[in-house]
Amino acid sequence: MDCLFCAIINGDIPSKKVYEDDKCYAFLDINPQAPVHCLIVPKVHIASLDEICPKCAETIAHILATIPKIAKDLSLGDGYRVVTNVGENGCQSVKHLHFHILGGKKLSESMA
Ligand code: 5GP
Ligand code: ZN
Repeated sequence: MDCLFCAIINGDIPSKKVYEDDKCYAFLDINPQAPVHCLIVPKVHIASLDEICPKCAETIAHILATIPKIAKDLSLGDGYRVVTNVGENGCQSVKHLHFHILGGKKLSESMA
């Protein structure tokens, strides 16, 4: 399967790693939308939040539990935003589930 984030996870495409364990991989976004912009992805290919099944829900719970640890490592103690885009209207451009972690400044109150 031709997937950009699977290639990043496998190391076939270089990335700036922030965190890694057996279930997830976090790296800096190539086109940051905030002073700190990190992406966290499951190592298993899941296309989007729409594809969540009971079996992979555990992985997603693990990612959500890991995000505050990454935020701490990235000095986001004043707060941050977590976003996952889904599908066409959500403007999802990479079809491998990912959560954006955005921070490092007071973010816009507008989300859409
Ligand atoms: P989406 O629009 O799907 O929610 O987010 C995809 C994100 O992946 C974008 O923020 C984009 O900048 C980032 N991205 C796309 N290609 C690459 C890449 O090759 N390396 C990294 N680190 N980020 C990428
Ligand atoms: Zn993938």
